[in-house]
Amino acid sequence: MSTKDIFIFVGPPGSGKGTLSQYCEKELGWYPLSTGDLCRKHIKAQTDIGKHIEFAIKSGKLIDDWLIIEMVHNWLDEHINDIDTIVLDGFPRTVSQAQALQKLLQDEFPFCKLRVVVFKVPDEIAVQRLSSRTICSNLSCQAVYSLTKKTLAPSQEGICNICKSPLIQRADDRPEAIRERLKIYHAHEQQIVQFYQSNGFDIIYLEADKPSKQVYDEFIARISIEK
Ligand code: ADP
Ligand code: ADP
Repeated sequence: MSTKDIFIFVGPPGSGKGTLSQYCEKELGWYPLSTGDLCRKHIKAQTDIGKHIEFAIKSGKLIDDWLIIEMVHNWLDEHINDIDTIVLDGFPRTVSQAQALQKLLQDEFPFCKLRVVVFKVPDEIAVQRLSSRTICSNLSCQAVYSLTKKTLAPSQEGICNICKSPLIQRADDRPEAIRERLKIYHAHEQQIVQFYQSNGFDIIYLEADKPSKQVYDEFIARISIEK
């Protein structure tokens, strides 16, 4: 089995993880897995998991580690053979998840090379962005757009460029849930970074408070240099 790259995108809500994943998918053919997207699929389909996590998601809390780890494990089992480069958008979000991912890669996917990217953006910018975020209502798509940033707006108002479904605002992009998510993120970020540093990983820090194309260009430059 040839080596595969797994990029993990760690960053506060609104830092542009999903948007950079979309660029990487479109420009490079990488395959993004957003654990948030997976959770929203479960909720919409009202699976047992979906019923269990609905309230937590709406209020901006994290989902139990074991559930998320199981989702990622199943997804990797199903897709890893067909993909060269994966972006994990929003996973891991806790040290337990980071440890579980390490173990999973060692035990089952040793041919995968992990690279850690941490997005930096001031909270007030993240709040502004999330208040004007829309996403595609088609759960197989969930493309991300902005109501205020022209370069990230859909070509036709309220309609997804990719699949033409209507755009919606997320139930957790309300001020209280945004504040809760930012608080939780900051409580975990340092521990996750320390976990990876102590395991010998170089962290790629991205200053994400810049136009999205510039963030993408800097990301590409950094990953080529810091191989
Ligand atoms: P954002 O784009 O705002 O960072 P996501 O779409 O990644 O948010 O995640 C939405 C919600 O899904 C989170 O607030 C959390 O409830 C749940 N979730 C997603 N990924 C994880 C994870 N790795 N661990 C725990 N909960 C998660
Ligand atoms: P995350 O996945 O980290 O929660 P998203 O990629 O969903 O963040 O972006 C949150 C919102 O900010 C979306 O409306 C998106 O269009 C917008 N956005 C993303 N990157 C930028 C950027 N560099 N500048 C301005 N707005 C951005």
